Amino acid sequence: MPASFDQLATHVLDGGSASEADALAVLRADDADLLDVVAAAGRLRRAHFGSTVKVNYLVNLKSGLCPENCSYCSQAVGSEAPILKYSWLSTDETLRQAGAGLRGGASRVCLVSSGRGPSNRDVEKVAEMTEALKDSYPDVEVCACLGLLKDGQAERLKQAGVDAYNHNINTAASHHDEIVTTHTYDDRVDTIAKARTAGLSPCSGLIAGLGETDEQLVEALFALKELGSDSIPVNFLMPFDGTPFEDTWELSPARCVKILAMARFVCPDREVRIAGGREMHLRSLQGLALHVANSIFLGDYLTSEGQDARADVELIRDHGFTILGAEDLPEHEPVERTAATATPAPSTPAASPCGTASTGCGSACGGCASHDGTTGLAIRQRGAGTDVPANA
Ligand code: SF4
Repeated sequence: MPASFDQLATHVLDGGSASEADALAVLRADDADLLDVVAAAGRLRRAHFGSTVKVNYLVNLKSGLCPENCSYCSQAVGSEAPILKYSWLSTDETLRQAGAGLRGGASRVCLVSSGRGPSNRDVEKVAEMTEALKDSYPDVEVCACLGLLKDGQAERLKQAGVDAYNHNINTAASHHDEIVTTHTYDDRVDTIAKARTAGLSPCSGLIAGLGETDEQLVEALFALKELGSDSIPVNFLMPFDGTPFEDTWELSPARCVKILAMARFVCPDREVRIAGGREMHLRSLQGLALHVANSIFLGDYLTSEGQDARADVELIRDHGFTILGAEDLPEHEPVERTAATATPAPSTPAASPCGTASTGCGSACGGCASHDGTTGLAIRQRGAGTDVPANA
């Protein structure tokens, strides 16, 4: 282990690799050393990605009604989370939803459907959507996330113009069976391999806060490195009411930054994406985290609401970064600030997803509309599957 995080960064920049012991040291760094960790990881981030932030936009094509039992998931069988449930969006509706995200600054659209895996008919639907999207937005990157793939499906998606395939390993192999039993870790790895073999860019990441040990977080990250994941979404558990993980709060903002930094040291040239749970877990450290990670989702998540999309753009610009592929994006109207937004309560899990007091910030983003005052989670009630404009 190098004597300092800065020396570790120099070692990695010189072509060396971070070891498992290095990764554990980053994860277990004293909070007093957080800025040293960020400064060192930030050297790697800037060496590979400069000051750009990639912005991704989720379109939930099919919501809920899943037969699998992933215990963190609001869409799983047995989940009582009051999420939107609907079957496949039409191609026109998908175009409408994706277009909102692209106009808001996204360069990648993630087409996601719940379920164990797609039928060949489902794959044809997504192929048609992808072709329509590429006709309307030639520069768009399309990532599909449809579950476990069968032989030939990845090739069909590639042929239709899909660029990437997301399938998260979610957690370490040694912890996998604690969180889901209807499919195996090897099933997941098999789908990532199928995507890569077909020429799709593998996107695979993890969820922190599932009761895993530090060693298991490190194990998961090294597995992602080994799998050759091009994009690594780092999710922080959103403990939906009505799921087995309800009321599970294991993460602090500083720990989340260290997890992202660990990902950067282990996979320095990979896209490290701050994914679900960004607002509620990083809270006021979202900006600091951008000095380590180089990618975020814009607006809402699959079944829960994110902060106002304008605040996402402000976050990027306020910290001196530019949005990849959307450098000409016009200034948004600034997000309306109130006393509540100016002084968020930093240690209150009951804060809404945008980090404001649960009584609402007045920005009319809708983020507090269904907030239940206990989990910090607002169920998505706008965008795909509703008649309400998307948060983009
Ligand atoms: S397979 Fe996907 S949608 Fe279904 S429960 Fe697991 S994570 Fe949720």
